[in-house]
Amino acid sequence: MYDLHIHTNHSPDAKPGSSMEAYAARALELGYRGIGFTDHLEFDPDDEGFGFLDYDQYSRDIDRVRLAYEGRLSIYKGVEVSYQREFSDKPASWFRGKDFDFIIGAVHFVGREPFHKEGSYFRGKSPEQAFRPYFEEVRRAVESGLFDVLGHLDHLKRYSTAVFGPYSPDPYADQIRDILKAVLKSGCALELNTSGFRHAFREPFPCLPTLQEFARLGGTAVTLGSDSHAIDHFHAGIPESTALAHSAGMTEQIYFVSRKKQVAVLGAPPLSPIRGRGRPKAG
Ligand SMILES: [Zn+2]
Ligand SMILES: [Zn+2]
Repeated sequence: MYDLHIHTNHSPDAKPGSSMEAYAARALELGYRGIGFTDHLEFDPDDEGFGFLDYDQYSRDIDRVRLAYEGRLSIYKGVEVSYQREFSDKPASWFRGKDFDFIIGAVHFVGREPFHKEGSYFRGKSPEQAFRPYFEEVRRAVESGLFDVLGHLDHLKRYSTAVFGPYSPDPYADQIRDILKAVLKSGCALELNTSGFRHAFREPFPCLPTLQEFARLGGTAVTLGSDSHAIDHFHAGIPESTALAHSAGMTEQIYFVSRKKQVAVLGAPPLSPIRGRGRPKAG
């Protein structure tokens, strides 16, 4: 098992105590083969996370944990970049000379507007008016060629559900198909982000019908990520999401070493109890 989406105390929104050591210890206890740390990297100077990631300190911390767990647990150096069209020229120069294993590209903004702030993004919008520009941004993120992994496709549903009710991909099937085709064409990996199991709708990002569409188009592999922002989040939703991925026809999981894609069998992890269940938290 691999969990390739983990936030530590190098992210401004991680819970206190989210140390790399604590995650590694938990991963080993649960029988994981590898984990990837993916703290936030923002390029919008107006965002509170701008300038938060200290690359040198991050690298030193990862090196220390790697050494401590050598031969027992593989630790990958990743990062989660917020894709914004306006700042799409920034990542290339920032990453120059830095040795990451993989880069997740994720859409947290439409234009420069964050959609996770108290529902203001949805005010005065129909579902189509909210989702169509979002999926447009996701397609651009994939086509930018900047990223190894497309993070949490359909993440907008995390916030839209409270406004519009349950999410369905059907009205946006054309856009989602284009995104999935772009994923397959670009060689970017599709993430199955399990953090949706920490919310009332209890499904991953993307949802099962989108995974099935991915399989119809020829997709066979995903990356798995819990998007943990606290130690209790680690592993949450991974067993359920792996079962869904199998049911959709996925057979492989992807991880990366020095930005080179590696393929492993998508195993069936034992269904162990999820820590923190019943105590939904932000994150
Ligand atoms: Zn994210
Ligand atoms: Zn994340």
